[in-house]
Amino acid sequence: MNTKEYKTFLSDCKASIDEKPLTISFDDFDDLSHSVFSNPQKIKQKASEIRKKFIDNIDENLLIFERKFTENGGKVHWCVSYDDFIDSLSVLLAKNKIKAVNTFTSRFNAELGLDFSLKNEKIATMATDGKCAILEPEFGIVNTGSLFSIFNSAFDMEIVMGSKLKIFIIPINKFVCNIAEIDIMSTLLSIYRNQNDSPFLSSIFTPNSHTDSASHVFLIDNGRSNILASKTHRKALWCIDCDACKRVCPVFNTIGDKPYNNVFTGPYANVVLPFYENFDSYKHLSFNSVGCGNCTRVCPVNIPLTDLMIENRRFFFEKKIMDLGDELLCSRLKKFLLSRSEMNKKTWLKRRKIKVFIKSSVLKNRITPPFAKQSFNGLKIQK
Ligand code: SF4
Repeated sequence: MNTKEYKTFLSDCKASIDEKPLTISFDDFDDLSHSVFSNPQKIKQKASEIRKKFIDNIDENLLIFERKFTENGGKVHWCVSYDDFIDSLSVLLAKNKIKAVNTFTSRFNAELGLDFSLKNEKIATMATDGKCAILEPEFGIVNTGSLFSIFNSAFDMEIVMGSKLKIFIIPINKFVCNIAEIDIMSTLLSIYRNQNDSPFLSSIFTPNSHTDSASHVFLIDNGRSNILASKTHRKALWCIDCDACKRVCPVFNTIGDKPYNNVFTGPYANVVLPFYENFDSYKHLSFNSVGCGNCTRVCPVNIPLTDLMIENRRFFFEKKIMDLGDELLCSRLKKFLLSRSEMNKKTWLKRRKIKVFIKSSVLKNRITPPFAKQSFNGLKIQK
């Protein structure tokens, strides 16, 4: 690849690589999940079915959630992009004469640049008046119109629950259909994100029109629907943000966060960022993998991350989103490997030819993939 972003990515990777040995271990996850569940694989399968059920009918499910949340006395705001969200939030805060809010660190908060935007609007982010709190819940619950949250401390929980104006921000994919499914999902989140056997402090919040506090939820797309059209790619939306895939990724453990230049990092970012942001600036990430499969193996909701990265590469190639040089090289390589007459040639000839497609600088440190002494076709002819 030749894009400017790819070159910056490479130089950031080189700058990030240091000599410290990799410490990749599945033990923490494996030991803990075996101590909590008698059959962790079965639980993962169940969790992926829960996520699939919501994502495959996301439109309908979100409308049911909106109806239930509104019936309970809350207000739902739909936002396509980050800009829509900031505009609607500013209007809501101005209408309620809010000059300070309490916010809490989360990945979605960082993705939306929430604290930064509030400062731009001259809204303080450490309120002491208990008027307004903005929180990202872990899951929305469709059948009850409720929100499930995990808190870092009893103090944080008190701030949110005691606020007169409660504002929840949630990406459109982080829902479950049924309140009974929260038990499995919250336990998995605890194990795979925090290495605890159960959530430290959690609550299920349902708005109540008979109190003097108001509850608003912002359902924010911010690029997620770009991935919904493809049945294969939409599996990425099952993600529950546990970060386990990052912790077992040998590439991420070597290059770190910086080269991603985004709040999404690690194997999950490799899959979704080209869709959430744009292909030109982020397509190189789908090649940022050694294909070891660690991320797929650890994922508590069975997202086939390695397959999805490969699927992305195929997608970029088929849609002609590759850089011209890479595209030509791939086309020639594909033609060569699919040619029966080429594959019937002698092994040494095929080895010599394949070297034309792979840069000599790459071959300096690696061996050319070997060809079998005889092709299947050759064996069949002999018979
Ligand atoms: S993709 Fe990664 S962050 Fe998302 S659920 Fe799977 S392991 Fe966790």
